[in-house]
Amino acid sequence: METHDNDMFTHGESHLDGPLYRNALQNLEEAGKVINCDPNVLARLKRPRRTIAISIPVRMDDYSVKVFQGFRVQYSPTLGPYKGGIRYHEKVDLPEVAGLAALMTFKNSVLGLPLGGAKGGVSVDPTKLSRTEKQNLTRRFASELGPFVGPTKDIPAPDVGTDSQTMAWFMDTYSQEQGGFAQPGVVTGKPIEIGGTLGRTHATGLGVVFTAEKAFEKKGIRFSGSRIVIQGFGNVGSHAAKFSHERGAKVIAVSDVSGAIFNGDGLDIPELLEYVKTNKVVKGFPGSQALTNAELLELDCDGLFPCALENQIDAHNAENIKAKIVVEGANGPTSNIATKILHKRGIFIAPDIIANGGGVIVSYFEWVQDIMSFFWDEEEVNLKLATIITKAFDNSYRFHTEKNIDMRTAGMAMAVQRLEKAMLLRGLYPR
Ligand code: NAD
Repeated sequence: METHDNDMFTHGESHLDGPLYRNALQNLEEAGKVINCDPNVLARLKRPRRTIAISIPVRMDDYSVKVFQGFRVQYSPTLGPYKGGIRYHEKVDLPEVAGLAALMTFKNSVLGLPLGGAKGGVSVDPTKLSRTEKQNLTRRFASELGPFVGPTKDIPAPDVGTDSQTMAWFMDTYSQEQGGFAQPGVVTGKPIEIGGTLGRTHATGLGVVFTAEKAFEKKGIRFSGSRIVIQGFGNVGSHAAKFSHERGAKVIAVSDVSGAIFNGDGLDIPELLEYVKTNKVVKGFPGSQALTNAELLELDCDGLFPCALENQIDAHNAENIKAKIVVEGANGPTSNIATKILHKRGIFIAPDIIANGGGVIVSYFEWVQDIMSFFWDEEEVNLKLATIITKAFDNSYRFHTEKNIDMRTAGMAMAVQRLEKAMLLRGLYPR
């Protein structure tokens, strides 16, 4: 934990106190100062609208009943229905979900989407559940959340540990409880066959590359021929690698839980994608040299894309980062102290709330298509994604240069400014 402001939470709010939420609040405070935000607005933005904690009883395969803890934090409805993923992970707790819900609020705002922010999660290791147990858990969680979600209320999506199948079960449960009428707009990230959109699977990785191209252009580096390093080779990292490679960049190193691989001439990404399909991990890819994840982060390169976990660049390694540009595919991969160090060292950060926004942007498209019952082709999805993410980048970049602040604070300031205007227009009920 990098912030030690003991006044951040009162005794009655201690259930919300956690490192991720504290970081988000610190960023909010700084952004608020930059735009001279109304203190009443800022005070409201520091706390979620509604936190829901649910005990979820689940029939296990051995016929016993286990009770899991689930959460949904509906942070802000100012700009539209709540939107944010559902995470299944053993470390999920209320402060983490609240911090992620705050980040979703700022992300949706800076991206200009007509959506509020939320996040959900269940404290469970999903790899230890059978398919039936995971379905039972999801259906009961969806049922308990029933009164609070819906296409005009709150629209969940997949996150760590959940996928399109989880969303299909969620959508089916909600639909059954609405009299059996299909309600595809209640969740996004669904399979195509039941109202999912084309282009969702690769959206976050493609958005990372659109953002990287803009950042490189601003810094006078040609993307084609540049040297890229990517931490994480899951959904986000592997697609970011694929699209970087297709645009002529040299992806010189990638990593996953098994470790990192390096080739100074550029890895053969199409072959690596095939290799990972068979071997599940990047380790041992022919023609590559093994590195540790720590070494990968400190490689000399043009672009470093952290696409794995939180807090990978922190006070311990920020001085050793040699990349010219960091594009945050993951949520919160750079700590607040590291952000300041990198900014001081002239290393440009394209922050997570913009750089990994591709996922929620295309989720928004899915919701729109479900409501219209009219579906777009993939080219249209990709083009509209490029327009939205580029605009958010350009607006924040302008602010970053005008005010001489780091890009994270600039992005947050744009987000807070939009929320402030909307909150003041809507006013406080009752006044
Ligand atoms: P994923 O589970 O598909 O992939 C995660 C990857 O990180 C895997 O390759 C895993 O092996 C690797 N990894 C795990 N621990 C590691 C470590 N210690 N060192 C190096 N690599 C490690 O997850 P994802 O969907 O690609 O998400 C990655 C990040 O992006 C998360 O922070 C997530 O919240 C964020 N994100 C994802 C999306 C999306 O649409 N998938 C959208 C926005 C943000």
